[in-house]
Amino acid sequence: MQSTGYGKEVNVKGWVRTKRGSKHVAFIALNDGSTIKNIQIVAEINPETEKTLDKIHTGAALSVDGLVIESPGSGQKVELQAKNIDILGPANPDEYPLQPKKHSLEFLREKAHLRFRTNTFSAITRVRHAMIFAVHNYFNDHGFYNIHTPIITGSDAEGAGEMYQVTTLDLSNVPKNENGEVDFSKDFFGKATNLTVSGQLEAELAALALSKVYTFGPTFRAENSNTSRHLAEFWMIEPEMAFYDIRDDMDLAEDMLKYLIRYALDNCMDDLEFLSKRLLDEEKNKKAEERSMELVEKLRFVLDQDFERITYTRAIDILRNSKPNKKKKFRFVIEGWGADLQSEHERYLVEKYFKKPVIITDYPKDIKAFYMKQNEDGKTVRAMDVLFPQIGEIIGGSQREDDYDKLYNRIKEMNIPEESMWWYLETRKFGSVPHSGFGLGFERMMLFMTGMGNIRDVIPFPRTPLNCEF
Ligand code: ATP
Ligand code: MN
Repeated sequence: MQSTGYGKEVNVKGWVRTKRGSKHVAFIALNDGSTIKNIQIVAEINPETEKTLDKIHTGAALSVDGLVIESPGSGQKVELQAKNIDILGPANPDEYPLQPKKHSLEFLREKAHLRFRTNTFSAITRVRHAMIFAVHNYFNDHGFYNIHTPIITGSDAEGAGEMYQVTTLDLSNVPKNENGEVDFSKDFFGKATNLTVSGQLEAELAALALSKVYTFGPTFRAENSNTSRHLAEFWMIEPEMAFYDIRDDMDLAEDMLKYLIRYALDNCMDDLEFLSKRLLDEEKNKKAEERSMELVEKLRFVLDQDFERITYTRAIDILRNSKPNKKKKFRFVIEGWGADLQSEHERYLVEKYFKKPVIITDYPKDIKAFYMKQNEDGKTVRAMDVLFPQIGEIIGGSQREDDYDKLYNRIKEMNIPEESMWWYLETRKFGSVPHSGFGLGFERMMLFMTGMGNIRDVIPFPRTPLNCEF
């Protein structure tokens, strides 16, 4: 819906957000999803137009021919003086679920087929698009190649969580072997297969030939965690870089996150301002100290900070001596070295202690995946997690183990079936080099970018336990 100058005759199409008016004139706010801003249609009410105008309600689709004129009203520069209005698709006001009033986010989740038509979700959808575009832009500009890693995987050793099985076996008549176990040799692929939890292992193979690659695809976790930060199906950005050590890896993560924030500020300001107002409104009844930072200010703030880089050991020291730990305010009290960090701990470090994003490195090897590079101390691995305000972990990454024997022994120690990993191991046998990578959860990043509080609201069709409607 672009205004092309006063006095011009144009045609616009879109959906009615609101209609109001007086005896003589109707004002219709029309939106086609291209911007948060509606165009105001001004239509004279006379015996000729009355019938059509009476049938126009919120949600109807219209095609309007009219004249672009300077708007005498405040709030918009131009409006459209209607010459002819066609109702392309009516919407019965007694049935249409979206009324011109505030609906709760919970309500809108149950109307996911229509929630694109709200200001909030059209804004989120546009920001999401801009971020997808920016991710590809960033990597293309930095010499990375995009590779598509498989969605169906035959390896059950990706080590990142519970998996969904993929099968064409008849579940009411499953073939069994003589031991009474399911005979997967009869299955489509001749073996048990799953939906991938990460494209990392395959991306590593490509990085060890093309130097810098990334995947950006869907990943699936059958974890039954009903939190505001977990989806069963989410999108992950996973770069893998040959010749990068963990420091290079952190530099890339920080630079990329800042690029994405800058891109949003440069390209999505209208939507960000709308989302900022939405957040202020949502939090208006909260106490001042419980309110989040204003959205645009928060984005600028993170852009201006050098992320704090600390070791896991230092993080544990800080947490152990923290007030909430001593007063047992954490749900999981930190007893000592070796504990896994929960999001409450991550958020304490980011929001209360350092007051900026934090990168934690050198975690205990026992709480991290088998492929992470072991440090000399024999206890820690070269992992790095990036923690963000409001979210906690947004990126998980590491330098990868490039030493064949160390990797092999770790696989054995962790009882990972060697035969499912032979191809991965072989890359450490031939021309192995130091390399690193990370995974950025796209929806976690979207939470940060939009100020939304629930991950179900930053993906068009969320998949969560017991929820696969749309
Ligand atoms: P968490 O501890 O927060 O559950 P994780 O350690 O299991 O995450 P990784 O396996 O390291 O996550 O995945 C890399 C990134 O993917 C995370 O940093 C996060 O941004 C994102 N992520 C992980 N699990 C989910 C999920 N269930 N839904 C959405 N994003 C996720
Ligand atoms: Mn992680």
